[in-house]
Amino acid sequence: MILVKTEKTIIPFLQKWRKNQLSIGFVPTMGALHNGHLSLISSSISDCDICVSSLFVNPTQFNNKSDFEKYPVTLEKDIALLEAAGCHILFLPSVSEIYPPNYVPPHYPLGELEMILEGKYRPGHFQGVCQVVDRLLHIIHPQCLYLGQKDYQQCMVIKKMIELRNYFTDVKINPTIRDANGLALSSRNMRLSDEEKILALHLSKTLFYIKENIEPGNVELLKQQMAQQLEDKGFKVDYVEIASAATLETVTHWNGNDKLVALVAAYINEVRLIDNMLLF
Ligand code: AMP
Repeated sequence: MILVKTEKTIIPFLQKWRKNQLSIGFVPTMGALHNGHLSLISSSISDCDICVSSLFVNPTQFNNKSDFEKYPVTLEKDIALLEAAGCHILFLPSVSEIYPPNYVPPHYPLGELEMILEGKYRPGHFQGVCQVVDRLLHIIHPQCLYLGQKDYQQCMVIKKMIELRNYFTDVKINPTIRDANGLALSSRNMRLSDEEKILALHLSKTLFYIKENIEPGNVELLKQQMAQQLEDKGFKVDYVEIASAATLETVTHWNGNDKLVALVAAYINEVRLIDNMLLF
């Protein structure tokens, strides 16, 4: 695997591959890699000739300083995992490489999408996500971009940014990879103790319960009950929501036909976890 740290050094590789008509798949990450990330690498490798990954803990998408400072870093292990997975090139830029001194962050008109759910609890987060992905796509210009359903709203935001910026990149979304007990894999799980990991299972259990038990009609009570149960177990809940899978508009009454997604965000002590599940 080739390891590059600057825009200037990655571009000649990309140009050579493009000239040889090789298709490029791209997997952006913030490191602390797990099998969720590796599923994206594997999809990229099976669809495209060249797999490019990036590892960059993007400061502009953290609205909480301590969350940024405590974000797990396992660089040596990540490099070994990517190499073993068959990734061709890893882009490992510094902050000043992504945001040079003359960089003026654009404002992305994301509308309601950045005001709801994660946007409501993490102001500015999705502008930061758009900034970094925009910079990376501008450098890499992949045919395909691989994202995880684990970050459902982020996938919608990035698709919107791609439309706004007229990139030709195709977005491919992989299902959430879970551990054997149903816990969605997340880099932030590394910050949980063994006991907290067991507690964290209630997040996916909540989503599975909603999936099994949702009925047409008013769904507010179901959301409230699920949030209360998590609070009773010791979570600090930001939201348990049921929304349109297509638009993320929250649903209070379900007509029994519309495709829905259930989403949850909650803290276990200092660690904020998110998960979601399609209800069809
Ligand atoms: P991150 O390193 O957390 O920024 O994630 C990089 C990419 O991996 C994003 O597209 C995430 O949605 C995706 N991802 C994270 N966790 C999972 C998971 N458990 N299953 C599938 N994809 C994931």
